[in-house]
This record gives sequence, structure tokens and C-alpha cells, in this order.
Amino acid sequence: MPRRTYNRVVAEDPDIRGGIEDLRERIRYHNRRYYVEDAPEITDAEYDALYKELEALEAGHPELVTPDSPTQRVGAEPLEEFEQVRHAVPMLSLANARKLEDLREWDARVRRLLGEDEEPQLRYVTELKIDGLAVSLRYEKGLFARGATRGNGAVGEDVTANLRTVRSIPEKLSDDPPEVLEARGEVYIPLDRFEEFNRRQEAEGKRPFANPRNLAAGSIRQLDPRIAASRPLSVFCYGVGEGGERYESHSATLDALRSYGLRVNPYKVHEEIGSVVEECAYWTRERGSLGYQIDGVVVKVDSREQQRALGSVAKAPRWAIAYKFEPLAAHTRLEDIIVNVGRTGALTPQALLAPVNVGGVTISRATLHNEDYVKEKGILVGDEVVVERAGDVIPQVVRAIPEERTGGEHAFEMPKTCPVCGEPVARPEGEAVTRCVNARCPAQALEHIIHWSSKAAMDIEGLGEKVATKLFDLGLIKDAADVYGLRPEQLEPLEGFGEKSAENLARAIEKSKEQPFPRVLYALGIRHVGTVTAGLIAGRFGGEDLLRGVSVEQLAEIEGIGNVVAQAVVDYFALEDNRNLVERLMAAGLNFEREATGPSEGPFAGKRVVITGTLSRPRGYFVERLEEAGGTFTSSVSKNTDYVLAGEEAGSKLEKANALGVPVLDEAAFEELLP
Ligand code: NAD
Repeated sequence: MPRRTYNRVVAEDPDIRGGIEDLRERIRYHNRRYYVEDAPEITDAEYDALYKELEALEAGHPELVTPDSPTQRVGAEPLEEFEQVRHAVPMLSLANARKLEDLREWDARVRRLLGEDEEPQLRYVTELKIDGLAVSLRYEKGLFARGATRGNGAVGEDVTANLRTVRSIPEKLSDDPPEVLEARGEVYIPLDRFEEFNRRQEAEGKRPFANPRNLAAGSIRQLDPRIAASRPLSVFCYGVGEGGERYESHSATLDALRSYGLRVNPYKVHEEIGSVVEECAYWTRERGSLGYQIDGVVVKVDSREQQRALGSVAKAPRWAIAYKFEPLAAHTRLEDIIVNVGRTGALTPQALLAPVNVGGVTISRATLHNEDYVKEKGILVGDEVVVERAGDVIPQVVRAIPEERTGGEHAFEMPKTCPVCGEPVARPEGEAVTRCVNARCPAQALEHIIHWSSKAAMDIEGLGEKVATKLFDLGLIKDAADVYGLRPEQLEPLEGFGEKSAENLARAIEKSKEQPFPRVLYALGIRHVGTVTAGLIAGRFGGEDLLRGVSVEQLAEIEGIGNVVAQAVVDYFALEDNRNLVERLMAAGLNFEREATGPSEGPFAGKRVVITGTLSRPRGYFVERLEEAGGTFTSSVSKNTDYVLAGEEAGSKLEKANALGVPVLDEAAFEELLP
């Protein structure tokens, strides 16, 4: 476009230019919140609406499109705290189809571009669009050498140490991979693990994550790999950057990745677009049937030659398109806010909504997390609100729509007394959560029983929320110890139970007595005591010790236990009711024996170990063995490091260890030290 014309348009249309710039600024801000800080402020649907508006304005004024517009760029700039990685082949985004008809239009465009005259032989591949974080996994001579985020598409962040902790990323490839293979995939967190993680966060008085994508992205972009190691991350690979030339088609690429031992989701090949459309329609209905979150279906031209012929536009290839599901969000009225009391006594505001259909499910309740959340979002009782099914499962109120206020709305007040037992509540300094501190509060008792039998705790199959609530309401169990007094004859006459199911439950209850002490300690539901902390404490003290009285100082001596946790444990055992419960559980035969080889003992007890270089197995394996033996995995070598476990081609960390005189172990020496 000649410069003169450009100037003239700008001069004539300052409003449009201002509008475009304003939108770009807002989108850039939200990109930063989403891609860099992993803490989006608006929903994807709201973001997509802004983006579409910008696209529409730019389409009407192509002369105003600048290369720095968010429509021309991928993601956001990488964080400076990480080393930067320049991608040999750019990591692009994908064009979007919102409607099924858009897929047919795209098919027509692809055919047109590939040659109008003769009908091109076209095959499409469909894959699920995993909602996580895009990563590049570089293998050199079959060994995992470097992992990076997508970043701005050209330059990403070096997150190798974090990716090494992901079990499904092999350290070594099998079969015959190319000299350099840069696999690309999506790191994600399965839904059940996400929910379990959030439950634990809440039990420990911490803020839950909004959705699995944020948790996955936040875990990979951590500076301390121990955090990533403690998160249930997984990966699906769906493409190759560098090294991809040798495969003739996308399907052959996926088959090769699988043969190398990388995790690949099943894909489908289609001979015509109708079948692609059917596949997309199928997953729109069935998206909730998977154990992980997907936000669409990706369609790719299979032939590499055709892909090359089609090429790319600024931020996405022309040979692929993402069919995106409608976001599961809706508007409705917030009729009231009630307050639930959880197992740890946490008071959670819950929204009562005018029933609304969100993605095929009628929602009439949604979480509001805590008092601060309601205040920060400025949500009033009576407001029109946006409700979303985050992670496709847990409904939440994401924001109010203040423009629709009528004046009859009012602010929410946290009650001063527990809505269940009527005792006063407290909000400790610096915490977001208000709590009922009465240990005998019935709400806490039922929630505690549910926690007690949950998978990560005693894992009693058949004693889920529904059954526990029924037994509790009938007065058959009042606390966790009562569970061990249940007899099959008591269960059998209950609705939903037969002879067999009653026996099965009785057997599951009996079996839970074999659970090791760390699980029992975690199952007690002491505030701030998660599974890891429980393991640390159980390695040093048994149930008898804790009953006899252990001081804050003694507990805080354990590596990994701080004063807050120590105080919570002491407070728990100081309460008469809690001590009684523990004594009755002991009498019922539960395991309160100190773990002889618990993590605070063992050959590496209290030792800080750095692992570097290429080892014969995934790094996660060595981290696990180390932690079993009481050691702690740290990422950088300092004078506080006790050992460095060095594999082949260990670089600067090994040099530093030698310079500081830190003992260096090879794999054999490490294994020898293990019990
Ligand atoms: P995208 O997520 O729409 O699509 C591209 C990405 O899909 C790839 O980079 C890859 O990570 C992923 N993917 C998953 N499975 C794949 C497969 N089988 N094959 C290929 N790729 C696959 O694009 P984007 O540019 O990463 O993100 C844009 C979207 O992010 C927006 O539509 C919006 O929903 C969301 N977003 C939200 C906010 C917010 O504030 N809420 C801000 C920015 C972006």
C-alpha cells in the first residue's frame, strides 16, 4: 500500500485507529496475564470476543494492520528469568473454526490453493486439541537435551529441568530417531488429578487453581523444578519441529513419535471433509467423557508435500485448523449467596443461581471461592453474572455484569457465626479463608469422613460422598472411627445396598487398616498437612509420640516442615476431641506406626542433591528414589549441596561441583548408597 494512502486513511479515521490501538493494548495486557503470568483475568470467551472485534476492524482496514498487532503474533514475550531458546522452526498457533460450516469453507480454500483444476487428492488427520501448554522437546542422538515453551513463537523459555520431572517424557528414545528430533506437544494435567490437587490446596488453606490449563502452565514455568516434580503433569505429542523433514505425512510423523516411545493421542485419518465434520460434532458432544480437558479438535492436511505447498500466514499454518468448542459459559442471575462449611471448617460462599444451561448441564449452584474473591470481583447478591464450567466440571461465577444492575442488589457479608453449629467463626490474619474452629461442628465431621475415605487418604472404595452422607444422616457414623464399627447387617437394609455391596464395603473398610501411617496422618485432615508433609512427619514420629505431645520446635526440626505446619499439628493434638478420635482409631487397628524408612531417615536423609547430565532413565526416576531415601532434589549447585549425581555430558553444574568440592556420584555410586 502506498504510503500516501496509508496516511490519508489514518488522517480521516482517527476513531478507528484509536479503537484498534485500544483493543490491541487490552489484548496485549490479557496475553501477558494468560501466557506470562498464567493468571488470566477474563474468560477465554471474553478474550475471544475482544480478539474477534480486533480481527474484524483490521479486516475492514488492512492498511492499519501492523506487524506488532496481536493478530500477527503468537503468544507473548518469554519471561526473562528463564534462558531463552530460539526455535529452529517457529512454533505457530492455529487458525480457528468456531462453527462446523467454517470447516467446509476451510476445506474449499485448501482445495482452491492446491489447484483449482483437478481435484487434489486430500486426506485430513483429526486429533484432539488438548488444553494445556505447548512445549518443544529436543532430543539429540535419542537423548532428551532441551525442553522449551512456545513463548512468542520464535523464542521460548528453557524449562528443561521442569520437563525432566514429567514422567511421560522419556529421557531416552527407542527405535531409530533422527540425529536431532524436536518433538512438540502439550503438557496437561488430568482432570481427576487437578480436582484432587485443588481439594488439597483448599484443605491446606491455599487458593485453588481456576482450571487445569493454568495449573499445568504455572507448573512448567516455575523456577524451582521441585514444584513441577510435585505436580501431576503429563504430555501428548502431536508434531515435530526440527527433524520433521523425513516424514512424508502427518500420520507417519505421529506413528514415528509413538514408535520412539513418546506419548501420542489416537488420531483419525479422513478421506473427505464430511467425515471431519462428523468427528468434530462427535467430540463436541463427548468432550466431557475424557479424563482431561480438550478445547477442540485439530484438523491437519496429512501430506507433507501439500502442507509445504500451502505454507503459513503470520501466526498459523494454512494446512491446519482448530475447531474450537463453544465455551461452557452462560449469563444468569445470582439469586443468593449461601455459606458452606467444609471439612477443615472453611466457610465457602456458594452462589445460588437462576437455573441456566451451560453446555448441556443445568447449573443452579456455583462456587465463589472465598470472601475476598466476591469482594475483588465486586459481585453483589442480585447481580446478573457470568457462570463458567471451569475444567468443564466445576461451575464458578467468573464475574458480574454491573451494567445490568437495577439498584436492588446488595453486598455479601460473611456470617460471624458458623451456619451449621452456630459457634463464632474466625479469619486468621493473612489468610483468605474464614473458619469455624469448633472441632465438634457436624459439618466438619461429615466432610472429614468423606476426606478420610478419599483416594489419596484411606482409599475406601464404596464410601464416597453419597454413601457417607447417607450413613451420617442416619446416625450410623458420626466420625471416622465409627466407620470401623459398621457391620454388613447394618448396611444391607439400606436403600441402594444389597448383600454383595454391603460385604464389599465392609471388606474395603477392613482393607484400609493396612494403609501406611503417612496416609492415616494425612487422612486425619490436620490443617496444612498434605500428603508430602504427612510423609515427612510420619518418618520421625509415630501416633503414640504425637499423642504424648510433640513440640513445635521438635516438628520444625524436620527438613521441609515449617513453623506454620508444626503449629497446626500441635494444635490438633492439643484438642481433647481429636485425641479421643485418634485413640479410637488406634484401638480399631489402624496403622499409627512411625515409618521406619520414612523420608526423614535413610542414606540421603537431609541431603540436598543436584541431578545433572544424561542418565539411563528419566530424571523423575532418580528424584523419586532420592526422595524415598530421604533426600531433597535441588536445581542449582551451591556450597549447601551435599552431592551431585552426574550423568553423561554433565556441563556447568558438574564443573561448579568440582570447583566447590561437592562430592560427585555417578549412577552406580548413587544406586550403591540406596538401601
Ligand atoms: P490455540 O490454543 O487456539 O491453538 C494453538 C495451540 O493448540 C498450539 O500452540 C498447541 O499448544 C495447542 N494444541 C493442542 N493440541 C494440539 C494438536 N493436536 N495439534 C496442534 N496443536 C495443538 O492458540 P493460542 O494462540 O495458544 O491461544 C489462543 C487461545 O488462548 C484463545 O482463543 C483464548 O481461548 C486463550 N487465551 C485466553 C486469554 C485470557 O485472558 N483468558 C488470553 C490469551 C489467550
